[in-house]
Amino acid sequence: MHQFASLVVAMCVACVVFGQELVYDAAFFPGAAHDPAIDTPEKILGFAMGDRPTTHAEIEKCLKRWDEQSERALLVSHGQTHEGRTLYHIIISSPRNMARIEQIKKDLATLGNPRGLSEAAGKALLDRTPATAWMAYSIHGDELSGADAGLALAWHYIACTDQSVLDLLDQTVVIIDPLMNPDGRDRYLAQLREFRGAVPSVDDQARLHGGRWPWGRTNHYLFDMNRDWIFGMCPETRGRIAAAGPWQPMLFVDAHEMDTQDTYLFTPSREPINPNYTAFQKRWLDEFAGDHAGAFDAQGWRYYTGEWADDWYPGYSNAWASFRGGIGILYEQAGVDWFGVRRAAGNVLTYRQSVHQQLLSSLANVRTLFENRAEIKQGWLAGRRACVSSDGAYARRVFAVVPGANPSRVDAFLDAMRLQGFETYLLGSEWSGPGVDRLGRAHESVSLPAGTIVIPNAQPNANLLAAMLEFDPRMNEAFLAEERRDLIRNGQTWMYDVTGWSLPMLYDLEAYELDTALPDGVKPLVEIERAEPGLRRRDAGQGWVIDGADDAVPALAMKLMLAGVRVRLADEAFTWGERGFARGSIVITREDNPRGSAEWIDTLDRLCREAQLAAEPIATGLGAGDVADIGGEHFDLLATPRIAVLSESPVDSGDFGSIWYTLDERYQLPATHLPCASLSYADLRRYNVLIAPGGAGELLADATDKLRTWIESGGTLIAIGSSGFEIAQEGGLSSARALEDVLGALDEYEIAVLREWAADAEVFDAETVWSHGVLSGKPAYPWDDIDLDRGSEEELTRRDDWQRQFMPPGTVLATRTDDEHWLTVGCGPDLPILFSSTGVLMAKDEVEAPIRYGVLEDDATADEPRRAGWCTIPAGKELRLRMSGLLWPEAAHRIANSAAVTREGVGRGQIILFADPPTFRAASLGTTRVFLNAVVYGPGMGASAPILEP
Ligand SMILES: [Zn+2]
Repeated sequence: MHQFASLVVAMCVACVVFGQELVYDAAFFPGAAHDPAIDTPEKILGFAMGDRPTTHAEIEKCLKRWDEQSERALLVSHGQTHEGRTLYHIIISSPRNMARIEQIKKDLATLGNPRGLSEAAGKALLDRTPATAWMAYSIHGDELSGADAGLALAWHYIACTDQSVLDLLDQTVVIIDPLMNPDGRDRYLAQLREFRGAVPSVDDQARLHGGRWPWGRTNHYLFDMNRDWIFGMCPETRGRIAAAGPWQPMLFVDAHEMDTQDTYLFTPSREPINPNYTAFQKRWLDEFAGDHAGAFDAQGWRYYTGEWADDWYPGYSNAWASFRGGIGILYEQAGVDWFGVRRAAGNVLTYRQSVHQQLLSSLANVRTLFENRAEIKQGWLAGRRACVSSDGAYARRVFAVVPGANPSRVDAFLDAMRLQGFETYLLGSEWSGPGVDRLGRAHESVSLPAGTIVIPNAQPNANLLAAMLEFDPRMNEAFLAEERRDLIRNGQTWMYDVTGWSLPMLYDLEAYELDTALPDGVKPLVEIERAEPGLRRRDAGQGWVIDGADDAVPALAMKLMLAGVRVRLADEAFTWGERGFARGSIVITREDNPRGSAEWIDTLDRLCREAQLAAEPIATGLGAGDVADIGGEHFDLLATPRIAVLSESPVDSGDFGSIWYTLDERYQLPATHLPCASLSYADLRRYNVLIAPGGAGELLADATDKLRTWIESGGTLIAIGSSGFEIAQEGGLSSARALEDVLGALDEYEIAVLREWAADAEVFDAETVWSHGVLSGKPAYPWDDIDLDRGSEEELTRRDDWQRQFMPPGTVLATRTDDEHWLTVGCGPDLPILFSSTGVLMAKDEVEAPIRYGVLEDDATADEPRRAGWCTIPAGKELRLRMSGLLWPEAAHRIANSAAVTREGVGRGQIILFADPPTFRAASLGTTRVFLNAVVYGPGMGASAPILEP
């Protein structure tokens, strides 16, 4: 109550200071009658709807009350946030529908998967099934008005006694998810409460209207959940997908806020539009927009559609709903936080009006659904039928994933498939036929072994499946022309998010798009087989090996070390006895762990079981021939990582969040979050790994001397994105460089690349080596056939400036991995990386580049070396770079052959740079492996640890 009292005081002051400016008293439901037996939000909470933003607890209180009071409403929980707040949706319909709500849900399931459903049966089912709307609000926690509009909407539909509403509820089921991000909203409201004074601030530059790091947009682990629908990393997303899916929402609304000085935006979006949108959606988005505009016209509120909002990336709420067959609508209201905000024209937009605008939008959209329900339901069912049709657009496409030796990765992929309810199968026998690989190469015959995972595109949610998995969706040419024109004219891109995301690429799985219907002889996939975890035998003479191909291995290694078990890492593949093991396998020997007790063996067994990994006993540590032996140099003793991650402003909160989630939630590894500002005085000796997510900027540069001392005495500094480029400058810690800083010295960087290729490609005549005469052999240089004349540095700078404006805003590019470097253990030869920066990282000499952009392949048409940007591609070769998403040739020439990851020794320690965030959205599992290698193996592999007393 105290809060309420202080608000009353504040509002009174407001009236004195601002006169009527902060009063917005338009009725939310003019002329409507409401059942007094249903408590109003004002009665429950003590303040009128929209007077101020409600908290999660307040919303919960209202929903629970209405659930008790009304026959029209059913409150359902669909999960818990990381911080323990309950996620709710409330199902609202007429008492007649509510009495048969489970039957309605069953009918929707039948209609949603209409295989074998006759026209007549479909029509009969459709006639008795209400239209469905899922109304969702405030997925971004600092976008406040939506949740309050959702609450008002719920009360209105539950309490209103007008015939028009009764009719609507008789023909529709309206499900309201008023608060998609309780953790973010409460975090933000706590900030605003702290910043709020007695005198209201309507200046949108005030901290009251901005909050502070990490703000409120994201959830607990700082995920932008309006990108997570295709990955399902957040409990909120997972709960929502499981809850909303079965309702087959025909209308789906996702209400946001945007800049305070903006107006109001709603769908349809402008190009690029993802090709998995259908004509049904395009038509109805226009219809809904027309009615929506009419409702705003009547109020004199300004609005727009399109402009900055595209619909290319499929992980948005409205995109997910659309690809599941519904009409997904996005709202963006000018956000005013608390009280209100003064606008350019001098007037104040109050919080209550912002709620009203979201509410009126929702009312208009639900009414459009109701009024057009027959046609919309029919169109929706036609869409469902097209998904499963044997001659539909998706009929001849099957995605295939070869499981390989990394079950944890495959499980993560299958988890994403299961979450969406996709039908997955296993090949019962070998299969071959035409298909395309991830690099875009068409094969007349792809040969797949029995046990390959196959996912037919023709299935109930075909559009969503295609949007998530397809390798190379294309934008239309008119859009490309417009994009290019604006890049050149204004240096501005129209892309709102990343342009590539295909899950088999981000997860780095061997995958194909096959041109076929579902092959015969497949069986539904229940679970892929894994080896029995734990120790095979307890009495192994030498010790145990755990194969390093699995993603769970680095975390297991760290947990073992934390438990006092000594661990070695194999830097090359080996075969002992019958069994071969991958590079990156870990070896635990009795000699390293000589204590008398068997306690550590119990620990090893327990941790292996928890990680679902098998430990094979070492019968012999002798590798036949030149294969590594147990006591040789290929089994390095690891050192226990003691990790710190820089956090707080100015660190990129999303980058930090995905690192936090990866270490903490996914792998349960301890790490200290070190406030950035404390870098200058913190005692860094406590850590041997320091991670700088993107954005740390000058704070790193300011601490150069201190960091150098720490690195030289054995520290591993891992710097990501802009933080890496910050220290890769003249006078900085790293000797890597940004491309634009070395335009005058490109020969050296080019020769570093040519050297790598030459080592692999070199052929020589042994006779000349054994010849006694000097002139029998003539030295050849990798640059012999190459024109190293690139023009003046001025011209190179001009060209680079020009090329830089075309850099991709998030495109999946192919990289080649060094198969001898410890950083790439667990990775295949070509690793897809989501490139999303403007920086190009250059490495030579002492700076190793274990991962570079571009994969060399044979090209018989290339008789001569050809220049691509700053580096030459050898004769007979082409460099594959783009995998998925938009990549202009100018950018391709800049990026080709640059480093994606660098590693350099500095004193006893090392610096590892990632040009792009390796844990992007926690879904980039291919690059996350490299990151884990760096973090867990770094202190033992690239740095030298002191010999410690036991
Ligand atoms: Zn938003």
